[in-house]
Amino acid sequence: MPCRGESPVSHELPPSGGRADNDSVSTTSIRASYLVFGQPLLEPPEMEEVLDCLRRAWLGTGPKAAEFERRIAAYKGVPHAVALNSCTAGLHLACLVLDLRPGDEVITTPMTFCATVNAIVHAGATPVLADVDPATGNLDPEQVERRLTRRTRALLPVHFAGRAAPMAELMAIADRHGLRVIEDCAHAIETEYRGRKAGTIGDLGVLSFYSTKNIVTGEGGMVLTRDAHFARRTKTLGLHGMSHDAWKRFTDDGHRSYDVEEIGFKYNMMDLQAAIGLHQLARIEAYWQRRQEIWQRYLRELAPLPLELPPPWPADERHALHLFTVQIDPRRCGRTRDEVMHGLHRRRIGTGVHYRSIPSFTVYRDRFGWRPEEYPAAMRLGQNTLSLPLSPRLSDDDVGDVIAALRQELLG
Ligand SMILES: *Cc1c(COP(=O)(O)O)cnc(C)c1O
Repeated sequence: MPCRGESPVSHELPPSGGRADNDSVSTTSIRASYLVFGQPLLEPPEMEEVLDCLRRAWLGTGPKAAEFERRIAAYKGVPHAVALNSCTAGLHLACLVLDLRPGDEVITTPMTFCATVNAIVHAGATPVLADVDPATGNLDPEQVERRLTRRTRALLPVHFAGRAAPMAELMAIADRHGLRVIEDCAHAIETEYRGRKAGTIGDLGVLSFYSTKNIVTGEGGMVLTRDAHFARRTKTLGLHGMSHDAWKRFTDDGHRSYDVEEIGFKYNMMDLQAAIGLHQLARIEAYWQRRQEIWQRYLRELAPLPLELPPPWPADERHALHLFTVQIDPRRCGRTRDEVMHGLHRRRIGTGVHYRSIPSFTVYRDRFGWRPEEYPAAMRLGQNTLSLPLSPRLSDDDVGDVIAALRQELLG
């Protein structure tokens, strides 16, 4: 599974000894197998549940997707949850249900996956970037204030790496200016902020169950909202624009005629996907605990190295521990992030980059005229950041290999 959205270094590696490059990696430091970044842990219960779908020959949207919606809604303490085939689809629909018009502006972060920005564009609105807090990678409320215009309609913060965005300040800005708020919770299933769950603070929250995320369905996403109208429209638009629960037209509830209310999309989650998610959700705490152990070990054992570690967070927040990002400052390390990343790859350790800043990509520069230097904090993070493996799938030996490889890379 390649790390999403970032040029993952090729996983094809000649056996050690057969390497074309004659760098000084000693053969004893090379793992037997490649450590794939973000590989999920899949266990027998979800395998059984998938088989159950296959045996019943009910693959598409159905009772398992509905059950997954109920359980996520209960977990998050929110009345409505709509299961979709990706977080990207959810972000698109969340923007659409706000009825944004051409020229309306949505302020978001340059430190995110491209899908966040693309969703705004697909909904017909104009994305506007505000720079991030260099310590947390989250939207900086002061920068958001500076980007407000008469056309601003909504804010779209990302809870970066699983750390809560500064929601009190962002909601205060939204209240003062009559803006809607969509929370990109792709990293933030477990995130809590001052007693509230991420995704339930703004008007809509969107989760991802993509293969590298904290719990997975392969591809998958969910829209959360307290607003019954937003929920109904999300559901309708996500299934062709057909009236509510149109999937039931094929069940033993008997045939019902449906209406087509809007020009919609094909964004529904399959039972085959929900089958995996149901059992992943049951282990969400156990997986968080395992990532917490790995996180603490990284903090302890990487402390002597010349790199920056993720900062602590306030006691009244819960971090979802999705990404363990270190900053490789070439002035301090003597190596660039890309050099270290390639070095780790040669030692058969897969890492990720979350993210190169949005303005560093061609299409956004061409289309919106954004320049990376206008968002200096995001630009610097984008150049220096490296995400280490943090999956509950990792064994203690795997974690030891990551630490040893980094030590060799940085201390020689
Ligand atoms: C993964 C991710 C998405 C997209 O999620 P998909 O489920 O793959 O569509 C959106 N935003 C952020 C911040 C992400 O990390």
